[in-house]
Amino acid sequence: MRPAIPEPPYEGGCLCGAVRYRIEARPIGVNACHCRDCQKLTGATNLVMAIFERAAFAKTQGETQVWRKRADSGREVDIERCAACGTRLWHEPLAAANLVYVAAGALDDPSWAVPASHIWVEKRLPHAFIQADAVQVEGQPAEREALFEAFRRLYPE
Ligand SMILES: [Zn+2]
Ligand SMILES: [Zn+2]
Repeated sequence: MRPAIPEPPYEGGCLCGAVRYRIEARPIGVNACHCRDCQKLTGATNLVMAIFERAAFAKTQGETQVWRKRADSGREVDIERCAACGTRLWHEPLAAANLVYVAAGALDDPSWAVPASHIWVEKRLPHAFIQADAVQVEGQPAEREALFEAFRRLYPE
């Protein structure tokens, strides 16, 4: 079942409470990645990210620690974590500085962040769930736009 996307703002933060952020606009995508890197990164079956325009996002308190991840594709992303408790909070893709990928589970209300798309589905673990109405992509789509299209189809404004 897909709850409606609530109206912004959205807030979230880390486990220890030191880092908080606020987002002033609706998401443009909610994507799940099942690649091996994301399984490692999360220690779970997959990574779920809500994607926003960077301009709508602001850290409101706390210190973060950054680690730059380089994918096999050559794409780089800055992964931001709480400097105190290590909770992974958001990703900033270097090739798309206008976007921010927010770790859905760290939102104060993560219940609405149901993936509209799943990528690297050929790596999906048997216990990872995929919604029947979500778009499934093997590997990575050539264009991020495919993920946003999948989202707009399920959540027309
Ligand atoms: Zn923390
Ligand atoms: Zn991944």
